[in-house]
Amino acid sequence: MLDLNTKAKNTWCPGCPNFGILASFKAAIAEMAETGELSPEKVVIGAGIGCHGKITDYLNLNSFAGLHGRIVPLATGIKLANPDLKVIAFSGDGDSYAEGLDHVIHAARRNSDITLIVHNNQTFALTTGQATPTSPKGFKGKTTPFGNVEEPLNSLDLLLTAGAGFVARGYALEIAKTKELIKEAVRHKGFSLLEIIQPCITFNDTREFYKNKIYWIDAKYQPNNFEAACKKLRETNKTPLGIFYRQVKPVFEELI
Ligand code: SF4
Repeated sequence: MLDLNTKAKNTWCPGCPNFGILASFKAAIAEMAETGELSPEKVVIGAGIGCHGKITDYLNLNSFAGLHGRIVPLATGIKLANPDLKVIAFSGDGDSYAEGLDHVIHAARRNSDITLIVHNNQTFALTTGQATPTSPKGFKGKTTPFGNVEEPLNSLDLLLTAGAGFVARGYALEIAKTKELIKEAVRHKGFSLLEIIQPCITFNDTREFYKNKIYWIDAKYQPNNFEAACKKLRETNKTPLGIFYRQVKPVFEELI
């Protein structure tokens, strides 16, 4: 099995669910390499700024570190310059849905052939817990000590509407199932968005909250219907996980 470990010292908080994402990703890439679906030397990973951004240090793959919110245009440029590469961008909810939201919308609209994996911990964790666009109403953090007054952004619904051809959501603590979602997102030709709920155990510990809130979409659900995907993504009582939408469309790099 392909060994993607590096010698870098891991500085995530002990027990951080980012370890779950790292484990899922390593297993997904190793399995795809073993079956010949991808060549590790043709994979380029990149990340923005945030706790998620350290993941590139822990993976023995070609990598690129971006500025805050700018990994998506970098990934688009890498793919455009060398379409033979498999380009996978990591980001956080602050990185992609605050600083970088405009880039993500346009990448989805253009259908750039890249994969975006968003570690959604609903807070700016690296800077010790400020509200992001996905923080819930009432969230108490450094910038909202009396509670966040804003409604959270439904990021997946927004990006589905913007044109994303693959929209999915996983959970960092469900490693095996999230690994399968990563493989599907990487396989997809076109812009694929995989958001992974990643509780921040230090500044926004949502593990208990999500224990009874998440559920995996029924196997009978067909992710080929836009209206059905919108409906699923707008559920509020529960948080569905799985692939909501998948449609293959002409990709930006080929059209151009
Ligand atoms: Fe993980 Fe939160 Fe610690 Fe960052 S601050 S490493 S997201 S637990």
